[in-house]
Amino acid sequence: MPIRQLPDTLINQIAAGEVVERPASVVKELVENALDAGARRIEIDLEEGGIRLVRVRDDGGGIPPEELPLAVSRHATSKIASLDDLEAVATLGFRGEALPSIASVSRFVLASRRFDGDHGAALHVDGGRIGEVAPKAHPQGTTVEVRDLFYNVPARRKFLRAERTELGHIEEWLRSLALARPDVELRVSHNGRPARRYRGDLVSEGGGPASTDRLLETLGEEFAKHAMRVEHAGAGLRLHGWIAQPVYNRASADQQYLYVNGRAVRDRNVAHAVKQAFADVLFHGRQPAYVLFLELDPRTVDVNVHPAKHEVRFREQRLVHDFVYRTLHAALAETRAGAAVEAQP
Ligand code: ADP
Ligand code: MG
Repeated sequence: MPIRQLPDTLINQIAAGEVVERPASVVKELVENALDAGARRIEIDLEEGGIRLVRVRDDGGGIPPEELPLAVSRHATSKIASLDDLEAVATLGFRGEALPSIASVSRFVLASRRFDGDHGAALHVDGGRIGEVAPKAHPQGTTVEVRDLFYNVPARRKFLRAERTELGHIEEWLRSLALARPDVELRVSHNGRPARRYRGDLVSEGGGPASTDRLLETLGEEFAKHAMRVEHAGAGLRLHGWIAQPVYNRASADQQYLYVNGRAVRDRNVAHAVKQAFADVLFHGRQPAYVLFLELDPRTVDVNVHPAKHEVRFREQRLVHDFVYRTLHAALAETRAGAAVEAQP
């Protein structure tokens, strides 16, 4: 075959392979867009575990009608304009890839009205084929509807699991989001029934991005009861959040939430530091439970490691590791000292 330029739709479908693994990835990308748009209230309607439908409606800033086609075009973003912006990126999105990728593997509708717009508009995209922008009544904010995920990519559709499993992945991701944003209300419905509601008025003590009420809503009473507040800053780093007292521990790493500059990530380096801090106080094979927020100069952390942005790279990995280890080790030593005092007659 001669070398040829691939059509846009196919390019988007290939990119979708990285960005969109399952309905939970669609929910993640759409909700992150809503948050980037300043939404305070987000409604998520799901059908059949999100396979049949994911609809996300927000009350954020909206998109003007003339920009709707751009929003579904590849590498089009309102969030960065230069390499400098990328290095200090504060939004969850910046690649301009999610909407075109999702729209290329679903039946997709984007409807929006700008906060300063006098009418709304909608744009349909079917399997990557972009329609015409048409006027449509819409309150301020944006609604994205994604139907029949992977309907045109049978090889991917085969990998989707049962409705329950897909719903579980969505719920887990929403839990992690809810922990980071107690200021945003999330309402979830599944198959037409209200499934979950996270309140948006949970103000946190100490200005942290989560609150003990949120811990209760997301991780349950036992975690909340054993949660110890962590707060420490130094050397340009800040670590805050909660660790569960060692008596509350887990068989698996299912309650380990880490956020770097507000973004939920997995990081082996930090996970290792936490594990080491707990090494003396947990039985072998048991896992600590924690919700930790690490804040640092965005210029010292690369978030552009993978299209799905589950990972970051620290410029000073050792420094981060030691900071996390020392902070948690000290916090745990304090509780042990406290427990020893209480145990005295
Ligand atoms: P990215 O988030 O990386 O910029 P996306 O493909 O997710 O890329 O979105 C493309 C653009 O569409 C965004 O930069 C933003 O301007 C606009 N957009 C998407 N979703 C929303 C939304 N819910 N509210 C307002 N604007 C949005
Ligand atoms: Mg995005």
